[in-house]
Amino acid sequence: MSVSYRDALRAALSYGLLSVFWLQITDHLLNSYFDNSAQLAHWQLINGYVWAFITTILIFLVLGRLSGFLGQGVNSKRQRQDQERLRQAAVVFDCTREGVLVSDRNGVIVHVNRALVEITGYPAQEVLGRRPNMFKSGRHGPQFYAAVFKSLQENGDWHGEIWNRRKSGEIYPQWQTVRAITDAEGQVTHYVAVFSDISAIKKSQTELTRLAHHDPLTDLPNRLLFTDRTEQTLAAAQRLKSGCALLMIDLDHFKIINDSLGHNVGDLLLKAVADRLQSVFGKGFTVARLGGDEFAVLVESCPQVTQAAALAQQVLEVMKGAFEIDRHQLFISASVGISVFPNDALNAEQLLRNADSALFKAKKAGREGYALYTEELTALAQYRIEVASDLRRALEQQELRVYYQPVHDLQTSHLIGVEALVRWQHPQRGLVSPGEFIPIAERTGLIAEIDAWVLEQACWQMCQWQSAGVALSFVAVNISSRLFARPELYTLVSTVLADTGLDPALLELEVTESAVMEDSQGALEQMNRLRKLGLRLAIDDFGTGFSSLLRLKQLPVQKLKIDQGFVAGLPSDNDDVAIVRAVIALSQSMGLQVHAEGIEQVGQARFLLDLKCDLGQGYWFGRPMPANELDWQRAPAIRS
Ligand code: C2E
Ligand code: MG
Ligand code: MG
Repeated sequence: MSVSYRDALRAALSYGLLSVFWLQITDHLLNSYFDNSAQLAHWQLINGYVWAFITTILIFLVLGRLSGFLGQGVNSKRQRQDQERLRQAAVVFDCTREGVLVSDRNGVIVHVNRALVEITGYPAQEVLGRRPNMFKSGRHGPQFYAAVFKSLQENGDWHGEIWNRRKSGEIYPQWQTVRAITDAEGQVTHYVAVFSDISAIKKSQTELTRLAHHDPLTDLPNRLLFTDRTEQTLAAAQRLKSGCALLMIDLDHFKIINDSLGHNVGDLLLKAVADRLQSVFGKGFTVARLGGDEFAVLVESCPQVTQAAALAQQVLEVMKGAFEIDRHQLFISASVGISVFPNDALNAEQLLRNADSALFKAKKAGREGYALYTEELTALAQYRIEVASDLRRALEQQELRVYYQPVHDLQTSHLIGVEALVRWQHPQRGLVSPGEFIPIAERTGLIAEIDAWVLEQACWQMCQWQSAGVALSFVAVNISSRLFARPELYTLVSTVLADTGLDPALLELEVTESAVMEDSQGALEQMNRLRKLGLRLAIDDFGTGFSSLLRLKQLPVQKLKIDQGFVAGLPSDNDDVAIVRAVIALSQSMGLQVHAEGIEQVGQARFLLDLKCDLGQGYWFGRPMPANELDWQRAPAIRS
């Protein structure tokens, strides 16, 4: 109860005036009515009681009014104002577009407004009594919530962006302010969270960013985004020391279509071209429209120039079919310019510029073609691609042949083994030597198929010789370093051995020095596995790579083949003589067989025999030839 100073003064004055008035009137009336002093005294006493009674009532009324329990006091007016304020607050609480949630100090939800119900999709009764974590989206980790609580504890409030989940399961972003409410003692009694759904704002922001980075017609990345991606790709390629490529594509004579059929048709054609390009390039590629009829493709991983050229060829191919646009059947070709990293350029801008000049070159060369930034590369890449596709066909149409070159024991001069060497019986070019197509097959991955085929043929052939009574102690098959590094080689060899029934001891696999020295651990494991099959291993072209003697000692090989380059200089070239001597001595000391290839003259054979080289192979003994042409009896005399 609170009484103001003015209220008290007013009450006191009223009381004083009333007292004076009452005493004057009653005294005057009693005096005029009673002459008898005893009666007067008696009534004056009664009047005293009456006054005391009236005073009591008056005091009761005054205090009652002042304290507000009688009639309408000052306080009840305040109360009315407060109630009005509360009513207004409740209306605001319910009408605001922001969701409002009130929880008690333990986090139990005690109040929510209509907006919260609308935003979250939960009716109020499903929310009250539960905790705000019922809205969790799962997008934030525990650290996020820990930071919110820390801020509430330290500052009494928190605001920021938070992702929550609606009843429908959809997650959405909201901007939220949470405040702790404290009592007079500073103890937290409640928490109030006010939030707004900002998914619409977010969506338009994303849309704006997308528009800034994409071409609105085709929805492909635009030049800005493409340049950015190129920079990132180059940075990664630099780090990983890998290669990447950029293809710049321009439609040939697009202007004619635009001018004759109108821009609408032109636009539809550009969209269709974009779709076709996207159908060729999936993950690992960025297809962009740089403007007008110019598109570009970023090839993130492109170790070989030929790979980029093959992709360009694919672009030319995919453009060949007719485009059905607005009841028109349109044909359009493209020209492609290629620039590769790190050969042609070291930064994104240079790469784009060089691809552009390569494109210019392609256009000048007559359109519907591609050109690399470097001219020699263009011709070479084109040749390799042609050979690769031709080779694929050759495999299907069985144009490959296996020739066998005799290997002689230098001591007895007898033919004791053969090396299987592949040939390509080309319909136009005649017999093509492996030196021409093996490197291309290695680059395109076709080598695995070729080696598998040669291995199978050689094993069948060896079985046939065995059953014909030909006394051969081995057939040697070359295994490319590409295939040697792969785990499926073991499966291949064991399957072929099982299928043909060849005694594994009669099979020798030749691997090059580089293949066994590069991935040392992998190669060692592969060799040990193969050895367990019972076959023999030889190191081909020994001396041309960089062998470590220590490493050589660990390898489970049985033979070293001295490269023909060293044999060629025998017996006059002192360096070759020294090297051949060293290799023979090394093999003998390590208990390995030593085999010299490329013997073209008897003098070389004699020299090698003097050095106690075990085996010899070369044109002097016999060239590689078809199986049926081998002369088993041939034993040319090395010593005269
Ligand atoms: P290589 O394994 O070192 O084979 C020896 C090469 O030297 C053969 O060439 C052979 O014809 C040639 N040669 C033999 N004697 C003489 C000689 O006295 N003088 C000269 N100048 N050359 C001689 P070819 O058949 O052209 O094979 C070349 C290379 O191609 C082979 O070298 C081998 O690395 C590879 N190769 C051949 N066939 C296959 C195969 O089936 N698979 C794999 N991966 N590579 C093969
Ligand atoms: Mg060989
Ligand atoms: Mg060799």
